[in-house]
Amino acid sequence: MDCIFCKIANGEIPSNKVYEDDKILAFHDINPEAKVHVLVIPKEHICCVDKVNKENSHNVSYIFEKIPQIARDAGITNGYRVITNCGEDACQTVKHLHFHILGGEKLPEHIR
Ligand code: AMP
Ligand code: ZN
Repeated sequence: MDCIFCKIANGEIPSNKVYEDDKILAFHDINPEAKVHVLVIPKEHICCVDKVNKENSHNVSYIFEKIPQIARDAGITNGYRVITNCGEDACQTVKHLHFHILGGEKLPEHIR
């Protein structure tokens, strides 16, 4: 499968890692939209929120368990926003489930 985040997860493509374990990887976004912009992905390929189900949702709960630590490790101290885009209208560009963690500065109140 030609998936850039699967390639990052298996080390074929380098990334600026914040956190890694056997299930998930967190790395800095190549095109940051905030002072701190980290992406968290499951190593298992799931295309988007639309494909989360009973069998794979443990990845999502695990990611959310780890997000506070990942945010801290990335230097975020005063709150953050977690975003995931799903499908065409949301402008999802990489079809491998990922959560954006944005912080390190005051973010705009409204995002859309
Ligand atoms: P989305 O639009 O929600 O699918 O977000 C995809 C994100 O992946 C964008 O913010 C990109 O800047 C980011 N991205 C794409 N390729 C890479 C890469 N090789 N390393 C780090 N971030 C990437
Ligand atoms: Zn993938």
